[in-house]
Amino acid sequence: MTATTPGILYIAGYSRCGSTVLDIMLGAADGVASGGELTFLGDELADPTRTCGCGEPYAACPVWGSIELPAPPSEVAAVTRAVEGGVLARRGRSAGPEERARYGRIQRALFAHVARRSDARWVVDSSKTARAARGRPVALSVEAGMDVRVVHLVRDAAATAASYRTTGSNWAAEGRGRTARFPVARAMAGWRRANGVAGALREEWPGRYLELRFEEVVADPRPALTAISELCGHDVTAAADLLDDGRAVDPGHLVGGNRLRRAGPLRLAPPAGPPPLRWDDRAAVALLARPAPGRARASG
Ligand SMILES: [Zn+2]
Repeated sequence: MTATTPGILYIAGYSRCGSTVLDIMLGAADGVASGGELTFLGDELADPTRTCGCGEPYAACPVWGSIELPAPPSEVAAVTRAVEGGVLARRGRSAGPEERARYGRIQRALFAHVARRSDARWVVDSSKTARAARGRPVALSVEAGMDVRVVHLVRDAAATAASYRTTGSNWAAEGRGRTARFPVARAMAGWRRANGVAGALREEWPGRYLELRFEEVVADPRPALTAISELCGHDVTAAADLLDDGRAVDPGHLVGGNRLRRAGPLRLAPPAGPPPLRWDDRAAVALLARPAPGRARASG
C-alpha cells in the first residue's frame, strides 16, 4: 500500500486535556502513526537541544531524522504560525496567497513523510486548538487540502485548573519560559476559547467531528476508540486490547512539549480526583470556563 497522502486525526481542545494519552493510544493501531504536536515541528527541528518522544535527538530519530521539507525549519515555523494564526481572522491579518501555498506544500510533505516512514494511512496530530494552533485544523483542510477528522477532547475545567495550579506550564517546566502570573485564570480563559474554536467545527464539519470527554476515555478507552474508528473508517481500537491485557502502549515518535511523551510506555491508571482548589481558582473556573458557544448542545 502506498500511503503518500494520509488522513489526519486531529485532536482539538485545550492544553492538559489528555491529548498525548489519546495520541499514543491511537498510534498503537496498524496503519496509524502518532505525531504529537506537529504544529511545532519547525520549532523543534530548529532547536538541536530538543528530542523526539522516542528519546533520540530529532536528527537521530528513525522517523524525523530523514525528513526533507520544502523550507528550512525556522521558515517552516514562521510560515506555520502566520497561516494558522491568520486563517480564522475575520479580516486584515490573514497570510498572503504565496505564504498560504508554501504552507500547503510544507504540511503535505510533512504528513506524507510520516505516512511513508510509518506505513500509515492516518497520522495523529495532537496540536489542539489553543493559542497559535487554534486555526490549524482549518488551515490543514483549507490551505493544505488534507482530509482532517477532528476529535475534540474536553477535560473537566476544574481538573484542568488544578493541573495548572500544581505544575504550571509545560514550557516553564522545561525551562523554555516563565509561568505567567495568574496561571489558573489564564488557563480558564484559554480553556473556554480553545474549546469554543474546536466546538464550532461540530456544525461546520458534520461527519468529521467527534467530541469526547477525557475522563470517559481514561475510564474506558474502548467506546472512545470505537467512535474514532467510525469517524475515520479505520479500526483504531488496538490500544484497548493491549490495555485490557495489562500490556503497555509504546509512545512512538511524538513531537512537542508534553512531559508524558518521555515517560516510557503508557499504562492507564484511573484518574485521581483533582486536589481541592483554592477559593480564587474556584472563582476563575466558575467565571471564565463557562461552556463555550460550540458546546451548547454537547449533552446527551
Ligand atoms: Zn523518534
